[in-house]
Parts: sequence; structure tokens; C-alpha cells
Amino acid sequence: MELVPTQEDVVALLRRTGGLRAGHFEYAGGQHITEYLQVALTMRDYAAAKVLSVGLSRKVRAHTEIRAMIPELSVVAPATGGLPVAYGVVEALHARQVYWAERENCDEPLHFRQYLQLNPGEKVLLVDDILRTGSKLSEVRKLVEERGGEVVGIAVVVYQPNPDRMDFGSLPLFYLAQIDGEYFPNAASCGLCKRGVPFDKVRL
Ligand SMILES: [Zn+2]
Repeated sequence: MELVPTQEDVVALLRRTGGLRAGHFEYAGGQHITEYLQVALTMRDYAAAKVLSVGLSRKVRAHTEIRAMIPELSVVAPATGGLPVAYGVVEALHARQVYWAERENCDEPLHFRQYLQLNPGEKVLLVDDILRTGSKLSEVRKLVEERGGEVVGIAVVVYQPNPDRMDFGSLPLFYLAQIDGEYFPNAASCGLCKRGVPFDKVRL
């Protein structure tokens, strides 16, 4: 496998390690989809995690302006699910530091750990496993900017655009694979439900 795996390599690796599952799934929000992604299952496999994080870091490094920032760059995950990717990317890039946002329950805003302060103008690369709606990435971007940092790009293993995806303007977006499952906004519009195919409820 090359240092930057192809779309086909990434899809095969995700399927082999259980991170990408074909079938019929219902998200907590009621949407139905035919391809379920859970990159954390793939990131259990150390060799697979290495391939993905090194590949993603190479895509970031190819961006001339961001490459020049690497010695001072912070890699920030919008939630704990992005941590294995964030640590892999910071190691491969030799960036300066890595940290993450979190929340104790879903009705409170994302926050950083107590005493964590950003340097004025700190350059931040947001890293996560998947980009779907981008709502968490957008929230952490706002948090970084409120603390005086500057978000310079977004890097994710898989881009699975949701019809409601948020707009990140001209911010560079790096990803290793784009996976578009067949997507239905609810059970009533789902072709598989119409054929009586049973589904799995998925949490994320
Ligand atoms: Zn369905």
C-alpha cells in the first residue's frame, strides 16, 4: 500500500476491520442508511490505524501553507472519538501539540479541560474520524476562535456528507475516502423498509 492509501484501499481496510458495514441501519435521529461507518472499530487495529493516520497526515503536509505551520501547529479533536486519529496525525506530522474538546452530557456546550489556554493566534488543525453534518467540528471551530486561535483546516478519515452538512467556507478539507451510503431521511421514505428488510438501530 502506498503512503497515501487510495479510496479503494481505505474502503477495503474499513470493511476488513469492521469499521464499515453494509446493511440497513437507523440513526438515533430516525434517518436510515445502507452503509454504517464506525471508524473507531477500525482504529482498534494498530496497523490499520497507522496506515490511516500516516496517509491523512501526508494529505495535510501536501498543503504548502499548512506545511509551513507544522512546528507550531496544534491538532485538536472535537470529541474523544477523534482522538486515535488526532494522535496518529500529530505523531506523523511532528506537530507541536494535541488536545480535544468534550462535554459531560449532550445538552451542554463543548469545552476544553480546565487550565487549557490557547496562545493568541494559535494555528489549529481540526481532526476527526468522520465528517457527516460537521456540527461538532463547527462547534469546536467556534470554541477555538473564541479562545483566540485560528482554525486552518479540517482533516478526517472519511467524508460521508449528509444532506444537512454545514458550510466551512474556504477552509481546506482533507479526507482519505468519501463514502456515500444510500440515505433516507426517515423510515417512511426508506426503500429497504418498504421491502420489509429488518434494520439495526445505531447510536452514533
Ligand atoms: Zn429503512
